[in-house]
Amino acid sequence: MIPDLSPGADLPLLFLDPGAWGEGHVRLSEAQWHYLARVLRLPAGSPFRVLDGLGTRWMARMPTPDERSREAVISDPQPAPGELPGRITLVQAILKGDRQDWILQKATELGVHAIVPVLTERTVVRLEADRADRRMARWQEIIREAAEQCERGRLPILLPPVRLTDSLPGELAATEALWFGHPREAGIPSLKEAVRATTGADHRFFVGPEGGFSPAEEAWLRGRGVRPVSLGARILRAETACLAAVSLLASELEER
Ligand code: SAH
Repeated sequence: MIPDLSPGADLPLLFLDPGAWGEGHVRLSEAQWHYLARVLRLPAGSPFRVLDGLGTRWMARMPTPDERSREAVISDPQPAPGELPGRITLVQAILKGDRQDWILQKATELGVHAIVPVLTERTVVRLEADRADRRMARWQEIIREAAEQCERGRLPILLPPVRLTDSLPGELAATEALWFGHPREAGIPSLKEAVRATTGADHRFFVGPEGGFSPAEEAWLRGRGVRPVSLGARILRAETACLAAVSLLASELEER
């Protein structure tokens, strides 16, 4: 990716929620206002940038400090840079605590289009219903911060956790290539080799938990047309496998 050298490339950049958009202005959340006005101390009238999360970036101007509505005037919509020329969906067995946070953050930086956290037979994490909403909100925040920091053009989609075997839509886009990471199997292609034999831009990659996919899950994956690929001759931790797969897919897409 060529760095963004357009005017204003060093200005603060924020993703705004769909409800924040008005005609010619955006309404900053309290946290965003606090960040711009108190943390960065931007004076009234200073420029910053806002993204709609769908691929458009605008210039915005700091409202005056007594502006209770926190409305910033916007102008000059531009297609946002920072996206890959294809869509990578990462389907990964949920990991404990900060290892899960870390995957979300790093996969966002590497350009992932969507992340689908899944429960598998050997997943050790329990998802109590009462904590599910809070956890999703925290995960969304991690993704948003990472996307702002690395100047993505779109906000990656985070799907709510589901069982692995419920994680594929009934009708799959025929153009999407489906892969799962399989350590230890002789004779399977490397991800790189496999991707180079495809022409489509959309890829979905499945990574198992520390205990690996169960035989039944592996049969389910193969039965749905998900093909096993290798990430090398070493057994990687699940989070390493996620990032190795996403970064390889991203670099293949960018160099096509
Ligand atoms: N305990 C399992 C390994 C699980 S590693 C075993 O010994 O077989 C966790 C997940 O990371 C795996 O399910 C797989 O999807 C992925 N992974 C790890 N190393 C890999 C490799 N070398 N190639 C492809 N996928 C790998």
